[in-house]
Formats: sequence, C-alpha cells, structure tokens
Amino acid sequence: MNTLSRDTLRDAIARQELFQRVRIEDVEGILDRCEVLELDRDETLIQAGQTNHDLYLILEGSLRVHLAADMHTPVITLHAGQSVGEVSVIDHQSASASVIADSHCRLLVISEERLWMLVESSHAIASNMLVILSQRLRYGNSVINKIKELLREYEYNATIDPLTSLYNRRWLDNMLERVMHRCKTNHQPLSVIMIDIDYFKQFNDTHGHLAGDEALRVVARTMLQSLRPEDMVTRFGGEELLALLPGLELEAARRVAERLRLAIAATPIQDNDGKPLPALTISAGISEMEDDTEPLDLINKVDAALYRAKHQGRNCVCD
Ligand code: GH3
Ligand code: MG
Ligand code: MG
Repeated sequence: MNTLSRDTLRDAIARQELFQRVRIEDVEGILDRCEVLELDRDETLIQAGQTNHDLYLILEGSLRVHLAADMHTPVITLHAGQSVGEVSVIDHQSASASVIADSHCRLLVISEERLWMLVESSHAIASNMLVILSQRLRYGNSVINKIKELLREYEYNATIDPLTSLYNRRWLDNMLERVMHRCKTNHQPLSVIMIDIDYFKQFNDTHGHLAGDEALRVVARTMLQSLRPEDMVTRFGGEELLALLPGLELEAARRVAERLRLAIAATPIQDNDGKPLPALTISAGISEMEDDTEPLDLINKVDAALYRAKHQGRNCVCD
C-alpha cells in the first residue's frame, strides 16, 4: 500500500500540525487503512473548480497552491507537516485553488469519514483542526489585502501620468462625460482651460530634454497650486494640460487662466544641477459647457480657443 517503513510513516505522522499533542497510538487504528499517495513533481493533486473529498497530510515533499486566475505564481507553498483540502472536504464546495506537487511528494489521504472519526476521537485533533482552519482564513485575508493593494497601484498607474503626476489622457477619456453629466445634473456650470507651453521645442533644443521634463513638472505643479482642490488637471498631450473647473462660468475661468498665466511666467525653473533657466510662458484657451455640448465638442472648442491664443501672439488667454 505504501513504500514508507512503518517507523518513517509514524515519524512523519507525528510531525503533522493536525496531530500536535496527540498520542499516535490513539489514532493508529483510524490511520492504519489510510492510503499513502505518491506524486511526481508538477503532478496535479486538486484542480480548482472540482470537488474534493479527502484531506491530504504532507508526509514528504511540498505542494504549491495556485488560484485559478494565476497558474504562474503560487499563493503559497505547503511543506511536510502541513495539510491541504481541509476546507473543501468540510464545506463540500468545489476547490477554490489548484494544488500541484512542487517536488516528489508522499501524502497521507484521509477521507471525510475518517477525518470526522479523528475529530470525534480527540479534543486535541479538533482544536488543531480549528487552528489550521483559522490560519487558512487569516492567510486568505492577507492575500485579499495584497491583491487590493496591487489593484490600487494598477489603477493609479493606469490613470496617472508618471512625469507630472497629473491625470492622464485615459482618465480624461473615461471621466469627461461623467464630470459633464454630474455638473448638468447639479445645474452647475463647467468650464475648461487648455494650456500649451509657448516655444517649448526651442526650450528643449536649448536646454536639453531633461530640463524640458523638469519645466513640465514645474508648470504642472504651478497649475495645481493655482486651482481649487475640486478642479481636475490632466496631461492632455505632450506639453498641453487641461483643467476641468466645475462650478465656474466662462468669466470666472478667464480670471483663473489669467492668474495661472501670470503665476507660470513668474515661476523660476532650474535644471537638475540647480542652474536657473528662463521662465516659460503659456497660452491658454477657455470654454464653458452649454446644455447641448458633447464631450468632444468641449475639447474641440477649447482647442480652437487655444489656437486663437497662439495666433494672437502667445502668452495670453482666449475663449
Ligand atoms: P508653440 O508655442 O506653438 O506651442 O511652440 P512649441 O515649440 O511649444 O510647440 P511644438 O508643438 O512645435 O513643440 C512641442 C514640444 O514639446 C516638442 C516636444 O519635444 C516637447 N515635449 C512634448 N512632451 C514633452 C516631454 O514629455 N518632455 C519634454 N522635455 N518635452 C516634451
Ligand atoms: Mg507649445
Ligand atoms: Mg503643443
């Protein structure tokens, strides 16, 4: 039935978490007829989604546990002394994870019926089982927390421009319609400002691309500092930034854009070595949403206003 000597099997059983503080002689009668299963490395023991009727105690070797969604990285690796299958054998639900041999393994197979015989025969086994299940629960919660942290990080990376830390174009494409809808529902005006750095190509050519990057960061920071917390600033394109200003009508947006233009022109810029660089100017377009304005119309209108500001000689605000 198995290739382990009786003494080796006894030692391996005595090392099990399930049998801590248990006299093995007391349970030998129940364990005697349990099968020892051998698995080669990479052999599957339990397939996620399938039913499982046995508890497996790892006598030798190790098993890796994979969530169905990620067969590349195991969520946990279990070693000799630990067990697998306890949850699905108790709740009769299909297995939530796949279990695969990480090395050659020997497992003691305990049927559901025998598991309950063990639990009923010994308080120590019953309390060990509770500890094992609590550990599973705790470990499951820690995996959920880790996944939630990762999700937050992915969401952040998907919507934030790494250079300026402003929202990126993808965020705007997703959110513009929602912001417009929210303002309409609340009977609030919505204005937008689109700015573009003047002669930025020349700035890059003269002072280098890294100095250009730093200048972009300074302009983004100045823009955030000049606006209210409820305003939303996105990096629309290369050196074009777009701000959504809920609650502001066109004339209020004009004053904001004018203040922003002056603030940027007055903000010193330094290169990475601390060498002062000439301040930049911006041109700005402004536009206000009307009742029938579609998201694309609003962008086109503010873009056309920015074009007029460039045409008028730059360093100015146009609607
Ligand atoms: P205008 O006044 O008409 O806007 O002239 P401009 O030179 O600013 O406009 P143009 O469209 O000719 O050039 C835009 C420049 O912006 C060119 C490009 O290298 C620079 N740029 C865009 N994105 C970045 C960036 O992420 N970093 C740096 N350093 N430069 C950028
Ligand atoms: Mg420009
Ligand atoms: Mg541009």
